[in-house]
Amino acid sequence: MIRAQIASRGIADPRVIEAFRSVPRELFVPPSHRLSAYDDTPLPLDRGQTISQPFIVAYMTEVLQLRGNERVLEIGTGSGYQTAILAKLVREVFSAELEADLARGVQARLDRLGITNVHLGIGDGTTVFREFAPFHAILSAAAPLTMPPGLLDQLADGGRCVIPLGGIDAQYLWMFERRGSAIVPHQLEAVRFVPLRSVQ
Ligand code: SAH
Repeated sequence: MIRAQIASRGIADPRVIEAFRSVPRELFVPPSHRLSAYDDTPLPLDRGQTISQPFIVAYMTEVLQLRGNERVLEIGTGSGYQTAILAKLVREVFSAELEADLARGVQARLDRLGITNVHLGIGDGTTVFREFAPFHAILSAAAPLTMPPGLLDQLADGGRCVIPLGGIDAQYLWMFERRGSAIVPHQLEAVRFVPLRSVQ
C-alpha cells in the first residue's frame, strides 16, 4: 500500500511514510472488509460513514507539514485511522466525532497501538475543543458546504487547516494558512467526503 499508493503518488515526507508503516490499517476497518484493508479505496464504516482512501489520508497529513511538536484538531474521528497517523507525528491530537457509536471502538484501537497522546471527544468538532485552541493544525474529514464560522479562529499563527468544502458533486480540498490576522486560502484536489453535520 505504501509503495503503490502513497510513495509513488508523490508523498515524500519520510515522517509521514514512517507513520503509515507503524499503523496497521486492518485494525481500523470493519471485520467484513479486512481483506480489503490495504486496497486503494475508501471503505464503509457503520452509520453510513467511510474510512478515507489511504492516499487521501497521506495527502492531507503531508499538506499540514507537521514537525513533531504540534497540537492538532481533527474533525471526524470515524475509525480513528487518521487519528492514529496524526498521533505518531505530533505532540497532541484532539479528535472529535459526532457519532457516539463510531467513537466507542476508537480508544481500544489506539491503546492497542500504545498511542497515548490523543484526546477523544463526542460532539461537533468545529466547537467541542474550542477551549483548547489555538491548534497548530486542523484537519477535517467531513465536508461542510462552506467554512464553518469560528473554525479558523482556532488556528494558531503559522498554522494550517486542511478541509474539504462543497456538496457531494463539487467538492475540493482546501488548505488555509494563518499569517497573523490574515488567512491565505489554497485550493487543492477535487475530492468526495461525507458531509459535515452540525448539531443545533
Ligand atoms: N478519518 C476518518 C474518516 C471518517 S468519515 C477515518 O479515516 O476513519 C467522517 C466522519 O466525520 C464521520 O464519522 C462523521 O460521523 C463525522 N462527522 C460529521 N460531521 C461531524 C462534526 N460536525 N463533528 C465531528 N464529526 C463529524
